[in-house]
Amino acid sequence: MAIQFNRYSAMSLAREALRGHAGWKEAWRSPEPATSYDIVVVGAGGHGLATAYHLAKNYGIRNVAILEKGWLGGGNTGRNTTIIRSNYLQDDSAAIYEKSRLLYESLSQELNFNVMFSPRGVMMLAQTHHEVRGYIRTANANLNQGIRTEFISADKVKRLCPIISIDGPRYPVLGALWQPRGGTARHDAVAWGYARACSEMGLHIIEQCRVTAVNSSGGRVTGVETTRGPIGCSKLAVVVAGHSGELAEMAGFRLPIESVALQALVSEPVKPCLDVVVMANTVHGYISQSDKGELVIGGGADGFNNYTQRGSFQHVEETVRALVETFPIISRLRMLRQWGGIVDMTGDRSPIISKTPVENLFVNCGWGTGGFKAIPGSGWAMAELVANGEPGNLAAPFGLDRFREGRFIDESVAAGVAH
Ligand SMILES: Cc1cc2nc3c(=O)[nH]c(=O)nc-3n(C[C@H](O)[C@H](O)[C@H](O)COP(=O)(O)OP(=O)(O)OC[C@H]3O[C@@H](n4cnc5c(N)ncnc54)[C@H](O)[C@@H]3O)c2cc1C
Repeated sequence: MAIQFNRYSAMSLAREALRGHAGWKEAWRSPEPATSYDIVVVGAGGHGLATAYHLAKNYGIRNVAILEKGWLGGGNTGRNTTIIRSNYLQDDSAAIYEKSRLLYESLSQELNFNVMFSPRGVMMLAQTHHEVRGYIRTANANLNQGIRTEFISADKVKRLCPIISIDGPRYPVLGALWQPRGGTARHDAVAWGYARACSEMGLHIIEQCRVTAVNSSGGRVTGVETTRGPIGCSKLAVVVAGHSGELAEMAGFRLPIESVALQALVSEPVKPCLDVVVMANTVHGYISQSDKGELVIGGGADGFNNYTQRGSFQHVEETVRALVETFPIISRLRMLRQWGGIVDMTGDRSPIISKTPVENLFVNCGWGTGGFKAIPGSGWAMAELVANGEPGNLAAPFGLDRFREGRFIDESVAAGVAH
């Protein structure tokens, strides 16, 4: 039976308030898996859901299932520090990240779901002369790419962020790369909004359904084995971030990906004190304030490959020690909780949106420490690749062939340590 979804509006809110909120429908269905689909997307993180959404929205392909081994949005999408920016150095990266940032600007209206996009401004601090030169170069590149960023003085940094100490003991603040329309969004809401829109268009979201094997015949994908039985498909989109290597192994090829845990933590909530996002890449820490008042703090990636989705004590110590230099005000705050997610790192720190050695099997991965900001643009570009069998302009530079050809898209500064 078709479920009628509520359209969220001031009117529906008022109507439900009068009815004791008894009339709200579930946000997405949980159907039993069918025996086969035109397209199966593995991974119900933001990228997988956005891919499915654009397959239906842009190409009218609705016989699609999204398979998720846990709960949707429970991977990196629900574990990240939500920084959104597009101030990358290379033209190919700037194009896809800016497409994504632009889609974020109207995503709440597009999905009829408040994703709480907050373009509060992102600053990347320059704390060495090397960084000053690097960020001035990036600001000039962004100017040519049509992306609004500027290199600002230390005084302007202090005006925008009064709690910062610009005369730090080891690394004084010398200026910053400032993107005024960068910001944050609510991570869960991005996953939930896409899920609701996918379900409304008739796509199947199947949670608690782990893919355990990839089936192919004559070099062409035919389906997957899952913990809920075999599911056939004509095309398979693998969008599983830190688990991409495992899925590739099931399909019989290797990816140039390393999986490592990346960690973050939040403080107890405090009154509003920080209304921009600050990234301090030299001392290695990132900070913003959530709507609840918690300071959201991003730290480093583990220095060894692993699949542990949890935090560790030494990262808290390192990250907080680094940030206290620049934000002495946080030294007496209590930290509330910490966690980790498994990120998928490529050698050039740029993503992979690509065909693979198996016909009709496509991968989207390698977003590493910075893929939340890319969700809408990545979904757009991946849907184009899967629907047409060939990449469009946005995805074309990010093919697997670049690793064979040495045609790297080096973003080790913009994405090596930054989120
Ligand atoms: C601590 C931390 C901070 C971060 N901060 C930022 C930030 O500030 N800004 C930013 O832009 N990015 C940030 N990132 C990176 C960002 O979170 C990721 O790049 C992005 O969320 C990846 O989304 P995804 O949909 O590809 O992956 P995920 O959200 O991880 O989704 C992949 C899904 O695939 C599922 N899956 C895996 N294997 C299988 C299987 N065999 N069968 C079925 N399902 C499977 C997983 O359960 C998971 O739900 C951060 C990441 C972390 C961990």
